This record gives sequence, C-alpha cells and structure tokens, in this order.
Amino acid sequence: MTYKNFTIETDANGIATITWDMADKSMNVIDLSVMEDLDRLVDDVANDDAIKGAVITSGKAAFSGGADLTMLEGLLQNFHKQKSKEPEAAARALFDGSRKLSLIYRKLETCGKPFVATLTGACMGGGTELALACHARVAADDDGFKMGLPEVKVGLFPGAGGTQRVMRMADGQQGMQFLLQGRTLRSKQAKSMKLVDEIVPPKKLVETAKKLLAAGVDPVKPWDKKGFKLPNGKVYSPAGFQFWPAANAIYRRETFDNYPGPRYLLHAVVEGLQLPMDLALQVESRYFAKVLQSPEASNMIRSLFVSMQELNKGARRPVDQRPNKIKKVGILGAGFMGAGIAYVSAQAGIDVVLIDRSQEAADKGKSYSEGLLAKAIHRGRSTEEQKEKLLSRINATTDYDALGDCDLVIEAVFEDREIKKTVTEQAEAAMKSRAIFASNTSTLPITSLAEASSRPKNFIGIHFFSPVDKMMLVEVIMGKKTSDRALAMALDYIKAIKKTPIVVNDSRGFYTSRVVMTYIREGLMMLADGVPAAMIENAGRMAGMPVGPLSLGDEVALDLAWKIVSATRKDLGVKYVEGPLDNILEEMVVKRERFGRKNGKGFYDYAGRDKKLWPGIPDVVGQPKPAESFNIDELQQRLLVMQALETARIFEEKCLTDVREADVGSILGFGFAPYSGGTLSYIDTMGTTEFVDLCKKFTRKWGPRFKPNKLLRDMAKTGDTFYGKFPPVVAVKDEAA
Ligand code: NAD
Repeated sequence: MTYKNFTIETDANGIATITWDMADKSMNVIDLSVMEDLDRLVDDVANDDAIKGAVITSGKAAFSGGADLTMLEGLLQNFHKQKSKEPEAAARALFDGSRKLSLIYRKLETCGKPFVATLTGACMGGGTELALACHARVAADDDGFKMGLPEVKVGLFPGAGGTQRVMRMADGQQGMQFLLQGRTLRSKQAKSMKLVDEIVPPKKLVETAKKLLAAGVDPVKPWDKKGFKLPNGKVYSPAGFQFWPAANAIYRRETFDNYPGPRYLLHAVVEGLQLPMDLALQVESRYFAKVLQSPEASNMIRSLFVSMQELNKGARRPVDQRPNKIKKVGILGAGFMGAGIAYVSAQAGIDVVLIDRSQEAADKGKSYSEGLLAKAIHRGRSTEEQKEKLLSRINATTDYDALGDCDLVIEAVFEDREIKKTVTEQAEAAMKSRAIFASNTSTLPITSLAEASSRPKNFIGIHFFSPVDKMMLVEVIMGKKTSDRALAMALDYIKAIKKTPIVVNDSRGFYTSRVVMTYIREGLMMLADGVPAAMIENAGRMAGMPVGPLSLGDEVALDLAWKIVSATRKDLGVKYVEGPLDNILEEMVVKRERFGRKNGKGFYDYAGRDKKLWPGIPDVVGQPKPAESFNIDELQQRLLVMQALETARIFEEKCLTDVREADVGSILGFGFAPYSGGTLSYIDTMGTTEFVDLCKKFTRKWGPRFKPNKLLRDMAKTGDTFYGKFPPVVAVKDEAA
C-alpha cells in the first residue's frame, strides 16, 4: 500500500495511522493526486481485515489549506471549450469532475470502518470537509488552530458535502452563519458547534484519536440511521417556517443577491435537508456545478485566488534582484498611518525607528500598537509576552540619526510637499547610501517628490490603505527614476508584512485613489441630477460596493476632496471644466464646514456610532426629484461603469500595466464589487463592445465624463477582452495553494 501523498502504518491493535504529508508542498492541499490516493486509501482500509479503524493526521504544521482551486479552473476551461459543440456532454463532465471529491468522502463515511481526523493549524475548505466526513474529530488546543469553509469568499460554496454535514451536525443558525460568511472557527467554537469532538494539546492528538477508536467510534453516521432528527427540526415545520425565510432575508441583505455562491448554497441546504444523505449530496453537487459555471465564480477564483497568490509570491518582482532581508525600517511621522505601519512592521519581526516632531508625538504613535495589542489580548489572540516583545521592537524617537542602519525608510508625514521635502533631506543625511526611501503619499506624484532626493533611484512610493493593520493591499509606485533594486526592496518588505502588492507607474492619484475619486464624484453628480441621497447610497451598496459614494466621501474627507479638486483645477488651468461637483464641495466645505466623518458633519450627521443622512442636503443641491424618475439598475451601472472606465484609461496611460493588478487592487483597495472579479473583469464579462455602447449611451445622457477611451473603442471593434489582449506576463509556478 503506497501512496504519493500519504503513508499508512497499522499498530498491533489494528489502528491504521494515515499521515498526509505532500512532498513538494509546504501545505497539504487537495489536488488530483491526493484524490486518487484517498480513493484507494479508503478501499484499502475497508478491505483490510487487519485494520479496525483509522486515524487521519497531517505530517505538517497544518492539517490542510483546502482544495487547489487551479484544479477547478482546469475543469472549467475544458467545460467552456466543449460546451458549444457538445453542451450535454460538457455539463456532464463538469458535474462528474466537480463531485469526485464528494463521492470519495461519502465512500469514506460509509465504508464500514471508523475514521478519526486529528486537526492542527489551518483546516480549511476541502480539508475541513474531509474531517467532517470522518466519524470523529480531535482538534489541537492551540492559538494557531483555525477551521473554516471559506469557499464563499471566492464565489463558490463547500461542494464536497460541507453544506450537508455542517447542517446535520450544528445548530441551524450557527451553521448557516458559518457557511454563509466563510468565517474561521477556533477550536473551542468548533467544539461548541459540535464540529469537533475533543480538544487536546497538539502532542496528544494521535494518542487521543486512537483512544477514541479503542473505546469505539460508530462507523455509521447518525443521518444514515433510521429516526435521525435534524438539529433544528424539519425544514417544513413551525420552527422551519420561522428560520428559513429569515435566512433568505439575511442572505439578501448581506449580498443584494449578487453572489451565486451563497445563493445556491442556500438552495443546496434547504433542498438537501429534506433528503437522505446520498441524494442530498447529489443536490449539493448539482448546485456546485451550477455555481462553477457562473462568471462570478470564475472571476472571483481568478482574482481572489490565482492572481492574488501570484502577486503575493512576487509576480512583479524583478527576477535579477537578490532577495532582501529587511531587519530595520524607519518611519517618519507617527500619526495615523505611521503608527499603523510601525505596528505591522514590528508584527513581522522587523525593528522599527518611529520618528515624529516631538517625543510626545512619537510615543503616541507607539501607543497605537499598545492599544491594538491590548485588544488582541482581550480577545485571546495575543499574550502579554508577545505584546512586550513587539513593543520592544519599536524605538519611538525624534532622532534622525537612529535611521543609520535602516534598510528602508517610509515617510508618512503631512500631505504637504515642503514638509515631505524637508524630512526626505533630513533622513537621507542619516541613512546609509544603499537604503531605500519610500513615500506613503496618497496623491502627490512620486517623480516630483523624488526631486527632493539626492538619490532618486532609491526613491519609491509605498502607499498603504487605512486602517493599515486591516487593509491587505499596498500600492507600490514607480517614479521615473526609481530603480529595480528599490522595487525589489519594496516588494520584499510587503511580502514580509504579509500584504498583497500591486505595482503602478506614477501619475496623479496613482490607480486606487484616482478611481475612488470617480466613484465619489459620480455620487455627487447624481445628487446634482436630483437623485435622492438615500437612493444613491442604496445604489452603491446594491451594486456591490462596501459603502455608498456619499458615505465614502465622508470617510475620505470632503475637505480633502475639495483640496484635490482645487489642486487639479490649478494644474489644468483653462482646460479645467467646472461642474456641479465644484459647487457642491465648495458649499459643503467652505461655506458650511462639513468635512465628513472627521468633524462629525458631512453628507451624514454622526452621533457616536450612529449616522444619519443629513437632512440639509437639499439646501445644498436642491430638492430631489421623485425616486421613480430614476432607474435603480442604471444608477448601479453608472457607479460601476465610471470606475471601470477610469481603470481602462489608467491602463491605456500605462500607469497600470498588469490586468491582475487592476482587478486585485480594485477589490482589496476600494472594495470594487468583488463578485465582478474587479474593474477589468467587469468590462470583460460584460463584453467590450457592450461596455463601449453603454458608455456612449451614458455620455449622451449624463455627460462627456463617460466617453470611452481609444483603447476601449479599438478593443470593442475587434471584440477583444483585457485578459485576452493583455495576458499576465509572468506566471509564477505554484508552490503551495
Ligand atoms: P497624520 O496627520 O495622522 O500624521 C502625520 C504625522 O506626521 C503627525 O504625527 C505629524 O506630527 C508628523 N509630522 C509632521 N511633520 C513632521 C516632520 N517634519 N517630522 C516628523 N514628523 C512630522 O496623517 P496621516 O493620515 O497619517 O497621513 C500621513 C501620510 O499618509 C500623508 O501623506 C497621507 O496623504 C498619507 N496617507 C493617508 C491615508 C489615510 O487614510 N489617512 C491613506 C494613505 C496615505
């Protein structure tokens, strides 16, 4: 009995220990070879009279990262190739292919011998589904333990029995939340949901699993016995009538029905719970195959799994640059951003010099980390010892000489050219000559900031998003003179702090800020068109944006938007076209001092955590027209089309050069409708010709800002897509999913 990815050893008591340890990967994942192995393993255990039961354990720190989604991508590609010629055969192949794992797990569940899974570290997706198919589960009592079914986050749902088993084991409400939100559970939560049976120290996992088997683990699952009762009772029952309509309402509230993954998940659960297990799994598989075929799932898998992984692994890193080990970073400005950057750096084990104008300000920046760590300790996610260790890495000071041995210095002082110039000069006087200097500016072109530098080759933009500890994206900006060495340093640093980088060329607002401003602007233009404010906000959320455009304007700060508009007007001179936007912002900021959330007054009034649309909006923009005069679908499209169009322009200007970065950056940076796969996937999915036609229609109806750019018009003529015309240049070899 030999397998590619597993070893099996049977002890004197007839308990087989099956160890999953993939030779060429740092994490166990489910790929075709693992499926082949598992299929055979179950037969071998079932047919070997010497084996009474089996423990499935991992030879690695974690149990499993889940299925390798590139496998599903391959299935889908075959489906799309075949479907025009032989639609039925194509659908059958997709259905059969995508349910193979589910059938193997069911075979394990019903083979007649008990299996116990021991779980450490991450247990995700298909790994969790394997554990649930086993007859008992022992989890490690360890801070690093997490169990989850995160498939909805990439547009899918758990399709290897996860939906059916969770809902037959856990309380209905907790189970639905776990499935629909794709959240991860710690060991105690998993136990209280009855998804694991025992929690023991990591070293005792296998021993405990064997003890369980020796004491007798039932090889027949409760749902395969007569008289099984669902934890929440039948779907068609008084309790069910209360529960399921509410579940559907919550689904719609959370997703606006934009996501086929959770939509079909609900179908699979409601229909599956009314059937015996084998049929229920068949229903789950049918909906899974349906979801797989949706453009939303393809786009989300591509952007949020494949592309994101490639970018994280350094797809844009210059290959000829030696890797940098970043030991120490300097941070200038210990304000909101500087303090956050200090925290994520120290968390990654990097020493930090945190500089501000006064010792008090520098200390305040350091205390931000203290606050975050205190919260983490309160939630059981950190310890006093870890806190002290992290804080000891941050040297809060006013002394620029402390920058002498930094590999990288990041400035996050006020958004003011002169101040940035002064600190650049001061820092460079103290830094070693090969160290890299980065600016965290949100809008000022890097090339012009680099003029203050005596070594512009070493000058680069590293643009973080707030709050730094939560936002996963970092936008790297290449100035005209920025060297590949500086880029490699920036990317190595971003990798060290475990964030996702995109690399863009210099321009005003770079990529993300520029597109975000068009979203806010479109919201203001709608106000000027007479659209009721609440309808604008709803249109934004219904389109899939995390917040409406007016809300985002308040968050970004209206006075900042006004500053940017004024600066652009000054730069463009006579070429600047005045519009209703200028009047609204001027009225809000200059005349009424409504700056947004930061002074508690913007398009919303803020009282504590609550916010309400400001009733005075009509005094600024005029009385709104009746909601019925506007088409809500068109308003949603306007908001998305405007952002996608701006992205296409930025792409044409070569500020963006990689389609993956446009898509990943738009979702992680500003939450662009994740179901679309990102700004360029949005255009590709609609079709370039249709997109251009829509832009032309909007130009006639709403103004020249919707005029499609030349690149788009040319692509529309030939029917090209962004991914077809500009395939990603570097494909990074996958090491571990
Ligand atoms: P902030 O006002 O909170 O912090 C700026 C800090 O710089 C203050 O603590 C100030 O005392 C310090 N400072 C000013 N002059 C200094 C000097 N000469 N030497 C040392 N320290 C000095 O501002 P912030 O929101 O943290 O923004 C900082 C930078 O980050 C700006 O360039 C901003 O555009 C950019 N940024 C901000 C955000 C955001 O959401 N706030 C997002 C991305 C980028």
